[in-house]
Amino acid sequence: MQADVPKSLELLEALISFDTVSRNSNLGLIEWVRGYLKRLGVDARLSYDVTENKANLFATLGESREPGLVLCGHTDVVPVDGQPWDTDPFKAVAREGRLYGRGSADMKGFIACTLAAAPLFLEAPLKRPIHLAYTYDEEVGCLGAPVLLRDLRAAGIRPSGCIVGEPTGMQVMIGHKGHRRYSCRVQGLEAHSSLAPSGVNAIEYAARLIARLREIARELRERGPRDESFSVPYFTMSTGTIRGGTAANIVPRECEFHFDLRYLPGADADAPAERLRRYAARTLIPEMRRGSTEANIRIEMEEDAPALSTPSDDRLTYLGTKLLGNSRLGRVPFATDGGHFHRAGIPTIVVGPGSIEQAHKPNEYVSIDQLAQCDRFLANLKDEMCIPARGV
Ligand SMILES: [Zn+2]
Repeated sequence: MQADVPKSLELLEALISFDTVSRNSNLGLIEWVRGYLKRLGVDARLSYDVTENKANLFATLGESREPGLVLCGHTDVVPVDGQPWDTDPFKAVAREGRLYGRGSADMKGFIACTLAAAPLFLEAPLKRPIHLAYTYDEEVGCLGAPVLLRDLRAAGIRPSGCIVGEPTGMQVMIGHKGHRRYSCRVQGLEAHSSLAPSGVNAIEYAARLIARLREIARELRERGPRDESFSVPYFTMSTGTIRGGTAANIVPRECEFHFDLRYLPGADADAPAERLRRYAARTLIPEMRRGSTEANIRIEMEEDAPALSTPSDDRLTYLGTKLLGNSRLGRVPFATDGGHFHRAGIPTIVVGPGSIEQAHKPNEYVSIDQLAQCDRFLANLKDEMCIPARGV
């Protein structure tokens, strides 16, 4: 590698300086990465969200027409609001073998390593291409990845596998639960509270739904699908926010709440919300309609980050452990963009530098040793991709 090629650490410092909290545009970072790749002679494809304020970047390294391997990282980070940071979260600070900054572990560290490896990949006689995929809005429900996958399908690009570099301490992870967020809007009928029986109390009906939701969650825990390889080996479902009413002396017309569902790979993810909808349709709505024909309950899925489940004997799993020299496999407790690749039929593993323990917290850091391990992993990957295709 030439001496003037930036190393992962310098690249990570640059990436951290872009405030890519999910509520902001990520285009500054994306354009910077596009410029970096351009200087290496690589053109990138961008796929935008509806506002065109955010984009995924996809680039192919290597001339081969064989199916390639995707290295995927998300560009957005979680907010720092209200967190007691000791340093500026958007200015990387190296101290005692660690690099501090928002996104250092989750997951700009991996992106930096892949960018640092790009010149190496380009110099090597790759038999199969390596794709770089950097997504938007992962932290708010893995929203960018499906847009990226649609764009690839339209372009006829069909990767053979995907490595998502979420922080796993450089261990191969082969599964995670799926994650859905639902909204529930209850519409009743307002009335002066002295005439309460003439109204339809939206908050009280929402409360009954929430009590039913809790009941369903308990049944899922006791009698639902189980997978003991997860630390919480069953579905979880819980209410996260609620809003409704205007004053104590008004029977409220509206109430809205959001709930969260974490489901196991391969299990029926629709069933819990369907049970809740049935309870609303058969028990609550008929009762409410006696007070107002307008009364209604609407339960809608707002986000779905699919589960990931890659067999332990998959070729990609084998490749990951071989490149690391470490055969330990695990599952992660959080959802990743990998669920979308998995759903698209692309075998996927999760392996990246840093620890999820440090993610989303003040003073997030990645150890420089973890970055070095990731650099080695990618150098080994380059050697592997110079061997003719064996399916990965
Ligand atoms: Zn992440």
